[in-house]
Amino acid sequence: MNSTPIIVWFRQDLRLADQRALSAALATGRPVLPLYVLDDAAAGNWQPGAASRWWLHHSLTSLAKDISDLGARIVLRRGDTGVQLAQVAAQTGATAVYCSHCYEPWAAQQETALKETLAPFNIELKRFAGTLLKDPQAIRTKAGDPFKVYTPYWNALNASGAPAQPLPAPKAIKSVRTRIDSGKLADWALLPSRPDWAGGMRDAWQPGEAGAQANLERFLDDALADYSDLRNRPDKTGTSRLSPHLHFGEISPHQCWFASASRAAADGGPSDKGLETFHKELVWREFSYNLLAHWPSLPEQPFRKEFAAFPWSANAQALKAWQRGATGYPMVDAGMRELWHTGWMHNRVRMVAASFLIKHLLIPWQQGEAWFWDTLVDADLASNAASWQWVAGSGADAAPYFRIFNPVTQGETFDAEGCYVRRWVPEIANLPNAYLHAPWTAPPAILSAAGVTLGITYPAPIIDHGFARQRALAGYETVKAANAARTP
Ligand code: FAD
Repeated sequence: MNSTPIIVWFRQDLRLADQRALSAALATGRPVLPLYVLDDAAAGNWQPGAASRWWLHHSLTSLAKDISDLGARIVLRRGDTGVQLAQVAAQTGATAVYCSHCYEPWAAQQETALKETLAPFNIELKRFAGTLLKDPQAIRTKAGDPFKVYTPYWNALNASGAPAQPLPAPKAIKSVRTRIDSGKLADWALLPSRPDWAGGMRDAWQPGEAGAQANLERFLDDALADYSDLRNRPDKTGTSRLSPHLHFGEISPHQCWFASASRAAADGGPSDKGLETFHKELVWREFSYNLLAHWPSLPEQPFRKEFAAFPWSANAQALKAWQRGATGYPMVDAGMRELWHTGWMHNRVRMVAASFLIKHLLIPWQQGEAWFWDTLVDADLASNAASWQWVAGSGADAAPYFRIFNPVTQGETFDAEGCYVRRWVPEIANLPNAYLHAPWTAPPAILSAAGVTLGITYPAPIIDHGFARQRALAGYETVKAANAARTP
């Protein structure tokens, strides 16, 4: 019987339950070496941003403890992945590397390259599903093409059969005997030090598998049944807040899919609508990966080529005001401050804030995407790129270009009582609801009674909505003209 060790190479699957690579390795009966490699160069321009690095540190701490509770030890290495895998294999006598399949273009290329790097050493690389419900290559149109539109993708995914049932966590890990060097997480300097800006994130999140399960349970208990209504309300905890956990693979989409389905079944009728909406959101994530896998330039280039003609305006001052939550539009500012403080922003507000950057300020969506990449704890190449392109109108199945969110009416509709804005923009908290989302419309006496001096205690709007709307629509005429010129 083959008793050579297997390296289980952890990537964006930092969990023990429903971890197919780990379960398959353990099922062989061979000793297993859990390994994580921090490869600073592998992702090119898309190395993890500052908030993601903070998350990664804590997620690895949690995984290391969970693995140690099962009787094994995770080895941490830093450097070129191929070199590290080959080295660890040589040191332990391992003849196989098991891992989850990842779909970022750089990660897919890395897998192909690794097969070649490891083959001369007689090391087999075996990849397992687990980061997505369905492999994007498996969901195609009848003609065999990749999908560009979400609804047919959703229909095809459903028609392709139920996702695989989640696997339980192992009860023990049969570990390799040889003790080899491991790097120290603290030496990787993933955490911010001077200044330590992560206090808000520490308060808001519990990275790791237990934190993911806790968020899932809270969501199933409190929000799933009303999810289709609550999900648009930034003033409520009406969504799952699973996005960073899903991104780092601390929970699998399969676990989310089946746990929500069984909770809805147990609760009976009323939650069915919530369940379907939740499943549809999980499939937006899949659809984003489908776009990224088939159109790898998605994070950099407009999907619709004619959008390259859009007349953007470089405005460093306006970009800074947006990043700092100082645009004078409370809904936008609340979102940008929530992001800075917690590393997360509610989806409705992401749409409003992104639309403001692109359509009010005419700043290229790639600059907003880059800021989100650095500041979001759930920064995800596929979902971030696809969502920014969706808002810009340049994406595959995008919002129509003429849909320009009005940040005032969005605030009045989705934060009618103003709880969200008051929390994140406390300097205008004393304004009555009628003026909270548009402080510049308040009479001087009301501003004064609320302690607000526009331009001093809170910014005056950096741009007029009506003017910005007309300017953006004019910009899109250029895109239309470019499209007409392209179409024979
Ligand atoms: P829930 O409403 O509970 O949804 C459950 C899960 O479904 C989410 O955790 C997420 O994995 C997935 N999901 C939900 N909405 C979307 C969506 N529109 N697109 C793709 N997947 C979705 N999401 C990221 O995970 N990473 C990003 O970097 C990211 N960047 C975004 C940028 C912009 C400009 C916009 C408008 C949206 C972005 N999103 C991104 C999508 C969405 O905002 C987040 O997934 C969602 O807010 C996460 O909160 P939640 O876990 O409570 O979501």
